[in-house]
Amino acid sequence: ATPTALMVGTGRGAQLGILIKGPEVLEQTRRVDTVVLDKTGTVTTGQMTLTETHAATGEDADDVRRLAGALEAASEHPLARAITDGARQLTDLPSVDNFVNVEGLGVRGEVEGHRVVVGRPSLLANDGLSLPDELRARADDAADRGLTTVAVGWDGWARGVVVVADQIKDTSAQAVRELRGLGLRPVLLTGDHHRVAHSVAAVVGIHGDDVVAEVLPAEKVDIVESLQANGHVVAMVGDGVNDAAALARADLGLAMGTGTDVAIQASDLTLVRGDLRVAVDAIRLSRRTLSVIR
Ligand code: ADP
Ligand code: MG
Repeated sequence: ATPTALMVGTGRGAQLGILIKGPEVLEQTRRVDTVVLDKTGTVTTGQMTLTETHAATGEDADDVRRLAGALEAASEHPLARAITDGARQLTDLPSVDNFVNVEGLGVRGEVEGHRVVVGRPSLLANDGLSLPDELRARADDAADRGLTTVAVGWDGWARGVVVVADQIKDTSAQAVRELRGLGLRPVLLTGDHHRVAHSVAAVVGIHGDDVVAEVLPAEKVDIVESLQANGHVVAMVGDGVNDAAALARADLGLAMGTGTDVAIQASDLTLVRGDLRVAVDAIRLSRRTLSVIR
């Protein structure tokens, strides 16, 4: 590839809203056949809102929301922000001691003298707190509506669930269609519940077979590696929340400019506006730039 043509590609990228780490990056995109899309903050806006709080029989929904909101104030996860903001509308939040973030699973800490845990049901189960059937049914129902459920427990019991809504970006479905138009296979990757993942996939047009859900942050890297081991050349698009290692491992990492600094550092390309269609532009641009060169 001639340096001049690559420089032209880089300049055109900037006009489109794509920051390219180095001209050589364009060459890596040529053989990409699979595009892994992180769900939260990539296919969706990641600007979440707390929509429902359900308490187990005999528990108070206000307690569920207050203790969960207080604990999540120390977390930077988009889910945490939604839960904290939702709880603050109700009451002032108490302080937290001994806060622990369990990456991709949830948070633990002490609030008002209680040992509180908030996160995936599997995190609570780890601590010996299992969701009663009534809460499990609430969680399944919310997941079928594409909403994310977070379990809340303290002092040995699962006490409630909070439900958080995210928005699918208007542009995501079109981006998925355009990726297919370029002969690329879109895959949805998420730590969220499989029902939520399938609901989002159906809306944006990703095949059910190409949905990988309920993965831990470290497993996101394994998914990228196993695609590569099967001969695929993998682009990964993410916002850096629990997916930075996978972005770095992909043959081509694309960071949402609206995401974290970690994402931008781990990636080859940054999509300035956080619009998934620009990922398609980036792949098109690199193909065009390289065909000019060849
Ligand atoms: P995604 O892959 O969709 O970007 P993450 O890997 O960041 O999602 O998180 C996966 C799941 O882990 C969430 O759906 C949630 O159940 C749980 N989780 C992670 N962090 C938190 C947190 N701070 N509070 C509650 N739940 C959390
Ligand atoms: Mg994410």
